[in-house]
Amino acid sequence: MKPVPDAPLDAMNTLRLPARAEWLVQADTEPELAQLLAEPRFRDEPRTVLGEGSNLVLADDLPGLVIRPRLRGIRVLDDDEHQVRVEIAAGEPWDAVVQHTLDQGWQGLENLSLIPGWTGAAPYQNIGAYGVELADRLESVRVLRLADGAALELSRAECRFGYRDSVFKSVCPGEYLITAVRVWLNKTPSLVLHYGPLRELGALPATLDSARRVRERVCAIRRERLPDPAELPNAGSFFKNPVVGAAEHERLKQDWPDLISFPVDGGYKIAAGWLLETAGWKGQRWGELGMHEHQALVMVNYGRATGADVLALAERIRADIRARFGVELEREPVVLPRR
Ligand SMILES: Cc1cc2nc3c(=O)[nH]c(=O)nc-3n(C[C@H](O)[C@H](O)[C@H](O)COP(=O)(O)OP(=O)(O)OC[C@H]3O[C@@H](n4cnc5c(N)ncnc54)[C@H](O)[C@@H]3O)c2cc1C
Repeated sequence: MKPVPDAPLDAMNTLRLPARAEWLVQADTEPELAQLLAEPRFRDEPRTVLGEGSNLVLADDLPGLVIRPRLRGIRVLDDDEHQVRVEIAAGEPWDAVVQHTLDQGWQGLENLSLIPGWTGAAPYQNIGAYGVELADRLESVRVLRLADGAALELSRAECRFGYRDSVFKSVCPGEYLITAVRVWLNKTPSLVLHYGPLRELGALPATLDSARRVRERVCAIRRERLPDPAELPNAGSFFKNPVVGAAEHERLKQDWPDLISFPVDGGYKIAAGWLLETAGWKGQRWGELGMHEHQALVMVNYGRATGADVLALAERIRADIRARFGVELEREPVVLPRR
């Protein structure tokens, strides 16, 4: 756990943006983390937590301490006939967790298969896919307060989860280091199959084998549709699906009858991918960057783009979408350092 000065972060973010950490430290245990946070020489330094770097735009070098909590372990806290309560440490790679839970006969995370990243980052933006969000399964989150190393447990309500959002992302970013996530999983499966291509699976019986089939299907769709960051650097969907009110939705529908949208609480969620594709951004290249040829929502780095290039292209796209549709896009990845 020796802090490394002036460490390159290029290989620690899936967009492969160049940046350095003033001090990089990879900690494997909670006592190591507590010791690090108490070290006098880092007392007044800014502190940033990183996982796998799959939801990041590194706009510049990161000052102070950059901490990668590589804590490992999956343990059962409660177990009955129908359910199991499990604690997953922050450094567990998310997709391996999904596979492990199904191997144990625990169902509930299969729709979230193949999402890159580590478990500690999953509550940060309340990861979601194919009709399921982490919040649907989560009981609580264990954290260390970065300012003083205090260990706390936040209930699901305290995490204030929303669509790709949480207290960690919007209310107090940079305040907590998530050390573990506690979830409830099922031994008697209850599948979520209403979303998009999963409907094609038909009425599967509620069994563990069916949950495994859902995982296989989700993995196959994702491999087909999304570029692998190891081959083509990217950070997944670059913009969130904007939510608009009923009147605004009606106006858009009149102008654009083929608009893709879904009713949600308080309005309609517009498919950001449809907005970008309709505006002609799919497959567009802009210097070293571009919007993927099969997935308009995914910004890809073809070479040596910088964080400033990424933010400039994102602004160009936002301005274009605003001008064409009158809709405001919000970035999904987190921009660091925080300004
Ligand atoms: C190809 C691709 C597909 C994707 N698909 C999806 C998808 O379907 N659904 C979805 O929701 N996301 C998706 N993502 C985004 C990303 O995978 C998730 O947001 C993931 O949870 C990020 O994990 P990470 O470890 O890479 O976090 P990082 O990118 O390292 O960090 C993201 C944020 O979380 C904070 N953070 C990280 N770890 C901790 C911690 N332990 N404690 C406190 N804060 C922390 C960081 O400071 C940063 O602000 C996709 C990304 C890619 C590249």
